[in-house]
Amino acid sequence: MRDVATDYYGILGVDRGADDAALKKAYRKLARELHPDVNPDPAAQERFKQVTSAYEVLSDPEKRQIVDLGGDPLQTGPGAAGNPFAQGFGGLGDIMDAFFGGGGGGTRGPRSRVRQGADALLRIDLDLAETAFGTTREITLDTAVVCGTCHGEGAAAGTHPATCETCRGRGEVQSVQRSFLGQVMTTRTCGRCGGVGSVIEHPCGECGGDGRVRARRTLSVKIPAGVEHGMRIRLTGEGEVGPGGGPAGDLYVEVHEKPHPVFTRDGDDLHCRLSLPMTAAALGTTMKLDTLDGEEELDISPGTQPDAVLTLRARGIPHLRGTGRGDLHVHLDIQVPTRLTEEQEGLLRQLAKLRGEEQPGSSGKHQGLFGRKRR
Ligand SMILES: [Zn+2]
Ligand SMILES: [Zn+2]
Repeated sequence: MRDVATDYYGILGVDRGADDAALKKAYRKLARELHPDVNPDPAAQERFKQVTSAYEVLSDPEKRQIVDLGGDPLQTGPGAAGNPFAQGFGGLGDIMDAFFGGGGGGTRGPRSRVRQGADALLRIDLDLAETAFGTTREITLDTAVVCGTCHGEGAAAGTHPATCETCRGRGEVQSVQRSFLGQVMTTRTCGRCGGVGSVIEHPCGECGGDGRVRARRTLSVKIPAGVEHGMRIRLTGEGEVGPGGGPAGDLYVEVHEKPHPVFTRDGDDLHCRLSLPMTAAALGTTMKLDTLDGEEELDISPGTQPDAVLTLRARGIPHLRGTGRGDLHVHLDIQVPTRLTEEQEGLLRQLAKLRGEEQPGSSGKHQGLFGRKRR
């Protein structure tokens, strides 16, 4: 009993007379579209295995001969029946290296010990007047800075990083392996120097070879007028210095606006509430209000209604971009007296009588909801 031989030529899409160059070309083309690094689709990965297996068979003259004689070199005996592609692909990385030059398309030659530093983030609390009109703040921060002892080189005084003996400064080591393609040269990052090509034999005592140390600094940050809670101000090159004394990242200063006891902010508009006695609402008055710009006089017109809003134009937050400012909205809470003296009550009753409001809802003039319903 034998399984039907796998159609290796069909899998690779070549005809039976294909020479080595044609096989290679066909495999390369398929691998470029099916390789797991390019195509994460599981079906593509399964097909990639099949294509690789077919190439492995057909590029080996002995195995190809078995195929041409109607056999299957990957089915060796009765126990091996089934999926010929289920076996491991240990040599795959090397095949890909041979085709596409280097593991994962990495760079050639030693990489630099010096690397870009990370960005840093610092939060500052500001009150409303500061976010509104801007300010300058002194901030203290701890970041990595260039080591003052070795100036970033990482080596102890009087010494320098020495060329790595394992890779002779190349940062990578090569080895020759046998595979179905013949001898294949593989390249790996040097384990001794980590790919840098040099080794610090006597590290700087200050930074331990990193080329940077942590230090506390004080900076002056200018906060522009009109910033909002959560905004970040960027200070280029004020972040963390990189390994080997590499260029510093940026510092982001995040604005946190402290709640104000009187004003709440909505974009560039401000809102506040102001209590107003019932009598003042009826008679009209002037009131004083402390705004961000100092004391302002509010004109309350006679007959002001509950929930009235007075808007003070351009007394809000200056716009961060462009000119002009938001408004200040004053919401009036009209207070009805809860406790009356005998004299006050008498006066109010007199007023109610004069206005015909002793029995609201029952007179024709001041019918309320219930009065209308009853009729
Ligand atoms: Zn140092
Ligand atoms: Zn090395």
